[in-house]
This record gives sequence, C-alpha cells and structure tokens, in this order.
Amino acid sequence: MRILVVGGAGYVGSTSVETLIAAGHEVTVFDDLSTGHAASVIPPAGLVRGSIQDHARLESVLRERRVEAVLHCAAKSLVGESMAEPGLYYRHNVSGGVTMLEAMRRAGVSRLVYSSSAAVYGEPRRVPIAEADRTDPINPYGATKLAFEGAMRWFAAAHDFRAISLRYFNVAGATQLNGEDHEPETHLIPLVLRVALGEATHVQIFGQDYPTPDGTCIRDFIHVRDLGAAHLLALEATGDAEPSLEVYNLGSAAGFSVREVVEAARKVTSRAIPARVVKRRKGDPPVLVASSRRARRELGWQPQHSKLEEMLSDAWAWRLDHLRGYAESARPPETATDQNGSGVAAAEAMSRS
Ligand code: UDP
Repeated sequence: MRILVVGGAGYVGSTSVETLIAAGHEVTVFDDLSTGHAASVIPPAGLVRGSIQDHARLESVLRERRVEAVLHCAAKSLVGESMAEPGLYYRHNVSGGVTMLEAMRRAGVSRLVYSSSAAVYGEPRRVPIAEADRTDPINPYGATKLAFEGAMRWFAAAHDFRAISLRYFNVAGATQLNGEDHEPETHLIPLVLRVALGEATHVQIFGQDYPTPDGTCIRDFIHVRDLGAAHLLALEATGDAEPSLEVYNLGSAAGFSVREVVEAARKVTSRAIPARVVKRRKGDPPVLVASSRRARRELGWQPQHSKLEEMLSDAWAWRLDHLRGYAESARPPETATDQNGSGVAAAEAMSRS
C-alpha cells in the first residue's frame, strides 16, 4: 500500500514508518520538521517538507505519490503548552487536521488512521477506560484531539472515509534507529534517563500524596514498537471497513507508578538517579489506564513489549547511542525535486550517524 505518514519525522511517526516499511508498504513522510527530525526518516521512505496547513502541497503530494492511505501523527502534544497557547493547538490539531481531510477528499484518498490520545477522556470515572466511556477533556490538547476525531466522523459520513482513531497514553521505548528527542522535554522517562546520563542532578516526582499504593501517579505505558504495530494493523483494517470512524484504545490495563518507573530505571541503567518529591503538577489525574480489549479482539493487536524494563532498556540503549539525540546526525534535508516537481527529499540522501 502507498501510505503518507503525516508527522512521520517525529518519535511516534518515525518508528511507525519503520514498521510500515518492514511490512512491505511504500511510505512517504510529510512533516514540517517543527519538532521532528529529518534524520529520523529512514530509507526508502521519502521526506516531503511541508505544513499540514498547506492544502495545495498536501493535495499534490497525495496525487503525485498516488497515496492510498494516510497515517496522521502530526499533532502538537504538550499538555502544559496547550494550556498556555490554546490557539496554537486549535490551529494545528483541528484547523490543520481539517485542511488535511479536505486535501484527502479532493485527491480521492479515503483511508485514514489517526494517532489520537487517551487525553480525550479527561479525568476518568473508572479505570481501565473503555472506548464508550465519557469523553471530557481537561486541557486544550485533549480537546483538540477530540475535536479532530469529530471532524473525521463527519467526513466518514459525508465522504465515505474509512477512518480509525487510536487512543493511547504514554509512549516509551525506542527502536534501534529512532527514539525520543524533544526540546523542551517534559516526559517522565526521557527526563529520568537524562539524570542517569548526568545531564540533570535529580528527577522531580510531582506529588506523592495521590490515592495510589505508593502515593505517586500511575500511568499506562506503551512501547513505541507496539504502537507501530497497532498503526499498521489499523491501516490494513481500513481496507475492507465500512465508511465510518472506529475508535480503539491502546493500553496495558495495569500501568506503572512514577516511583516504579524511577526504580526500574535505576536497575536498567545501574545509575543512582536521585529523586526528590515536589508538589503535584496541575492537571495530573492519579490513575490513567486504558483497556485495549477491543483493539485486541477486532484488530488482532498483541502488544509484545509491555514490560517496563524493556521499554526503559530500549530507550536507554538509544540514548547511549545518541548522546546528543538527533543533533549528531542533523543537517538540512537535501531536497531533490522529483519528476513531478514536488520537492521530494530522498531519505537516502540524508546522513545518519
Ligand atoms: N512526572 C514526574 N516528574 C517529571 C515528569 C513527569 O513526576 O519530571 C509524572 C507526571 O506528574 C505524571 C507522570 O510522571 O504523573 C507522567 O507524566 P508525563 O509528562 O511523562 O506524561 P503524561 O502522563 O502527562 O502524558
């Protein structure tokens, strides 16, 4: 299948691209490189640098590449930033997303998989969360993810789109080639590994007075490889689906506490990793865990890398190999204009260290 991965140079996108290529699909990455890295796009995937807000460019890429399905991973995704800059989130995640849907409609592409978020549920009434549970986001990030799902639903009804949305919480781990490299970094595991590397003196534990066994928040972690596998299964499932939007949670149904993460990281890295308890971070629900029964049953998803130690050791191995993240291999993509003049950069042309 010819697949366009929008946001394919980011952490989730780039690792999913690896899975799609390994399964024999032909992949083009569309990314504005605002938070992604050109060096994360592996051959034979091509990279087109462009904005999700650029309707004409999207439409021409979809036509020229004869794209059959889109995987959409290009969202702004920081809760704190979304609280401070809601406009940025509505512009990118909703308006940008709708621009993409319009481009797909004009180019005659109707198969779509969306990398959504369990942030659409807000503070859950019960855990593990099921797909039919109430959605009531508590920040603009979750609200914009949900709003875009709404647009997908109506495009499915009006224009025969076959769409799947995957909702998950915390992504962790790495492949051999690609891992997590954000600036600024706000996520627990990469911050813990920074301390292990001596780049920071200690981890801050945001609150130890939650109603959980050790007092710290519990989160649902999914290995980025298992997420790639879910994206692949979902893309394939859009093939014989009826026009509709289907929603699936991807979760572990168990979860790990912040303390458990720090403890496991000490074991995996054999480093001390000092931690200090500080006050709660605003907007953190005590327990976020999703049930993936539906994804297992209907998509055949079987997570293979659910052990916290494996997620941490893969992330650690990648960091040790990329001490400066992608900065080591970063240089502007060598954009070669293809026959149709669309400015497709061959990933082969990019150096990887
Ligand atoms: N957390 C923490 N210290 C940090 C970063 C995060 O204690 O430096 C906690 C945070 O309060 C939450 C959990 O780790 O309970 C996961 O946070 P993260 O930002 O990684 O992901 P989120 O669950 O917010 O998507």
